[in-house]
Amino acid sequence: MTHTPVSPAQVIHADAVVIGAGPAGSATATFLAEAGHDVVLLEKASFPRDKVCGDALTPRAVKALASLGMTEEAEGTPPGWDRQEGLRMYGGKVVLELPWPELEDYPSHSVTATRAVFDHALALNAAKAGAHLMERTEALAPVYLSSSHGRVAGVRYRRTEPDGASSEGIVRAPVVLACDGGSSRFAVALGLHRDEARPMGVAIRAYYDSPRSEMDMMEGFLEMRAPADPTTGERGELLPGYGWVFPLDDGKVNVGWGLLSSSEHFRTTSYRKVLEEWVAGFPPEWQITPETMDGRPRSAGLPMAHNRKPLVHRGVVLVGDAGGMVNPFNGEGISYAIEAGEMAAVAAHEAIVRRSDRPLEAYPAAIEEAWGGYYTLGRAFVWAFGSPTVMRLARDYGMPRRRLMDFVFRTMAHLVNHRSKDATDVLLNTLSRAVPAA
Ligand SMILES: Cc1cc2nc3c(=O)[nH]c(=O)nc-3n(C[C@H](O)[C@H](O)[C@H](O)COP(=O)(O)OP(=O)(O)OC[C@H]3O[C@@H](n4cnc5c(N)ncnc54)[C@H](O)[C@@H]3O)c2cc1C
Repeated sequence: MTHTPVSPAQVIHADAVVIGAGPAGSATATFLAEAGHDVVLLEKASFPRDKVCGDALTPRAVKALASLGMTEEAEGTPPGWDRQEGLRMYGGKVVLELPWPELEDYPSHSVTATRAVFDHALALNAAKAGAHLMERTEALAPVYLSSSHGRVAGVRYRRTEPDGASSEGIVRAPVVLACDGGSSRFAVALGLHRDEARPMGVAIRAYYDSPRSEMDMMEGFLEMRAPADPTTGERGELLPGYGWVFPLDDGKVNVGWGLLSSSEHFRTTSYRKVLEEWVAGFPPEWQITPETMDGRPRSAGLPMAHNRKPLVHRGVVLVGDAGGMVNPFNGEGISYAIEAGEMAAVAAHEAIVRRSDRPLEAYPAAIEEAWGGYYTLGRAFVWAFGSPTVMRLARDYGMPRRRLMDFVFRTMAHLVNHRSKDATDVLLNTLSRAVPAA
C-alpha cells in the first residue's frame, strides 16, 4: 500500500488515524502499519516528553514490548533502560524478596525506563514500521461522515510548528482509534464519559538521585500512612495504598505511591504530604531526600477496570487508558495498552479490508475474553482493599506467609500460564473464567 505524503493544512486520506502516541497509540499504529495499512499517528506533544508514571514494566509488559519487535529494549540493554530480577516487598516488620516467577508464557525479568525514553522509543518504532507520526498535532474534534450521519469518518487537527505557527487540517479514515489517555477528550466529544461507579486510582511520583538506582530489584511498600497529626505529631492511620521505589538507568529512582477510590481518604488526603513523610523515614544511606529530588512530585489518575464503554462507538475504537484499561490489582496500564493495541489493530485490519464496521465488534469481545473475569475480580479486590482493616490484615497476616505472598504476587501482576497444571495457574485461570466479565 502506498503512503500519503503528510504536510500540514491539508486533507490527508489514510486507512486509519490514531490519536495519541502513548503506549496504546504507538502500539496500535505499529501493528496496523505492519499489516500494510496507511496509518496516521497524531500526537499533541513532541518527543521526548514527560508523562507521570512509575516507569515500570512487569514481565507481562516486557512480553508486550517484545511483541512490538523491541527486543533489545525488552532485555533492558539500551542506554536509558534498566533490568530487574524481582520485587522486594516491605510490610510491617517483614521484608520479602520475590523473584519474578519462571513461567512458560512470560519472561522472568522486569524493565524500567522513564516515559520520556520509553514513549519516544515506541513512537519511533511505529514510524519505523511505516506509520506517519505527526508530533505537535492535536486532535481537535471528530469529523462525521455527513451532517446527518453520526458515523465518525476522520479527525480535525491543529498542528503547531516549532516557531509557534499553527495550521489546521483533517485526516479522513474509515477507522479512528482514540488512544488519547485517561481523560480522552475525543471519547468525551462522542458522549462517552467515564463510569463513575468503577474504581479509579490516583498516584504521585518523584525522581531522586540515589544509590538505590543500582539495585536489581523493584521495591513495593504496604506501609503508606495518612499525614501525621500536626498538633500531636501522632502517626497517621495506615492507608489502603502502596508505595514503590523503582531503579532507573541514569542514577535516579522513581519513588511514588497510589491510592484507590474505594478509600475514604481518596479525595481528602494530601498525596504530596504522604510522599514527603514516607520518604523522610527512609534510611539515610538511600539518599532519597528533598535535596536529591529532581523536579517536582507529579500526580495523575489511573482509569481502571474498563471504566469507559462501549469500546467501539460510531466507528471509533478506544484503546488503553481512554478505555479505562489499568489493572485494578496493581495500577499497571502499559502492558494492557499495548495488548489492547494489538487486539484493536486485528479488528481494524478486518474492518478496513472488508469495508465494514462489523469486524470492529470483535475487539471488545477479544478484550472481554482476555481479561474480563480477572478485571471483575480486581474490582472486588479494590472494594475490599479500600478498608484499612483489610489492609492491616494483608500486612500483618499475609506478608509473613511466603506461599500466600507468591500467590498474591502472581495474581496482582497477572502472570499466569494459560495451559499449565501448576496450582496457582489452575486456580487463577479457573477463577478468571468462573467470574463473568462486566
Ligand atoms: C503516577 C502513575 C504511575 C504509574 N505507574 C505505572 C507503571 O509503573 N507501570 C505501568 O504499566 N503503568 C503505570 N501507570 C499507568 C500508565 O501510565 C498508563 O496506563 C499508560 O500511560 C496508558 O497509556 P495510553 O497510551 O493509553 O495513554 P497515555 O500514556 O496517557 O498516552 C496518551 C497520549 O495521547 C496524547 N494526546 C492526548 N490528547 C491528544 C489529542 N487531543 N491529540 C493528540 N494527542 C493527544 C498525549 O499527549 C499522550 O502522548 C501509572 C500511572 C500513574 C498516574
